[in-house]
Amino acid sequence: MSKRILVTGGAGFLGSHLCDRLVNAGHSVICMDNLFTGVMLNIAHLEGNPNFEFIRHDVTEGFKIDALDEIYNLACPAAPGHYQFNPVKTMKTSVLGTMHALGLGKRVKAKVLQASTSEVYGDPDVHPQPESYRGNVNPIGPRACYDEGKRAAESLMFDYHRLHQTRIKVVRIFNTYGPRMHPFDGRVVSNFIRQALAGEAITIYGDGSQSRSFCFVDDLIDGLVRAMETGDDFTGPVNIGNEQEFTILDLAQKVVRMVGGASRIEMSRPLPQDDPKQRCPDIMLARRELKWAPTIELEAGLRRTIDWFKTVDLTQYRAPTPNY
Ligand code: NAD
Ligand code: UDP
Repeated sequence: MSKRILVTGGAGFLGSHLCDRLVNAGHSVICMDNLFTGVMLNIAHLEGNPNFEFIRHDVTEGFKIDALDEIYNLACPAAPGHYQFNPVKTMKTSVLGTMHALGLGKRVKAKVLQASTSEVYGDPDVHPQPESYRGNVNPIGPRACYDEGKRAAESLMFDYHRLHQTRIKVVRIFNTYGPRMHPFDGRVVSNFIRQALAGEAITIYGDGSQSRSFCFVDDLIDGLVRAMETGDDFTGPVNIGNEQEFTILDLAQKVVRMVGGASRIEMSRPLPQDDPKQRCPDIMLARRELKWAPTIELEAGLRRTIDWFKTVDLTQYRAPTPNY
């Protein structure tokens, strides 16, 4: 059955892949974005498709749309450099944006899925992180605008569910990478690939012993759609991410080897404040409730991401400016 679906943040990295997936499945998709970190280039191929509509709008301002079946709330800068650019705005986007999505969901009786994050666990002292872990977040540090904003958004989701019986799905996304990452977002995969392709030094922060687990975008989108399709009694939160853990030094070496350039690995930069030392999802719940597990190995995903970066015209992207 064809559904009418709103994707906020739909011109971003994950949002644009989600729009593709939903349009290809025959749904009618409304993509809402203020183009802070998203780019029209990500959705240009959908323009003119009768099942796709783009609305330029900032989710911190309310919005009204009629007759929706589902809302995927992805609007929010996700890379540390992007969300710390204007931390007050980031908090507003998370909290007000989620409240507006929920208000709309309540009015039109749509399901609302919130793109939450592994950052709700902060710098975790439990490893790997199950959904029951309540986290170790510094509420006053430079990452707090994002971490606490997303935590508040989760609270709102559950309060709307308890108070108004709004149908909710909270998905905690772990580090995801792939084609259409913003080349200047400062995230580790995009930085390393861009640096390696340009023959520049690979910038490891700290000694590179901190770990992350990297999920390829196609796997992640599959997890989001499966979460949305669960029965009304399933609310999450549910972790979606890859269980294979790598140190940042492992990743740097892999990228240099795969790109095959002359880049050297540089370790002269300090670890950013509150940078989590390790991160890896426990995905037992996703396996059981969504019948989901990642299928794409890091090397295969990196290959596809490197191939995409080779085609990118970097002049089409800018670092975020105050004019969004
Ligand atoms: P992204 O920056 O590419 O996408 C975010 C999109 O939201 C962009 O298109 C941006 O322009 C838009 N946006 C930002 N503020 C807005 C506002 N006020 N009004 C309307 N649109 C706004 O990042 P992404 O990686 O695609 O992340 C998408 C979502 O997934 C985010 O909510 C993020 O927190 C979450 N997430 C992503 C990851 C990851 O590894 N990619 C990990 C955890 C959580
Ligand atoms: N990192 C790095 N060099 C870079 C960019 C990031 O060493 O050029 C490190 C960063 O300090 C962190 C990890 O890579 O430990 C992942 O960073 P990213 O910004 O991608 O995501 P995070 O998981 O920290 O939100």
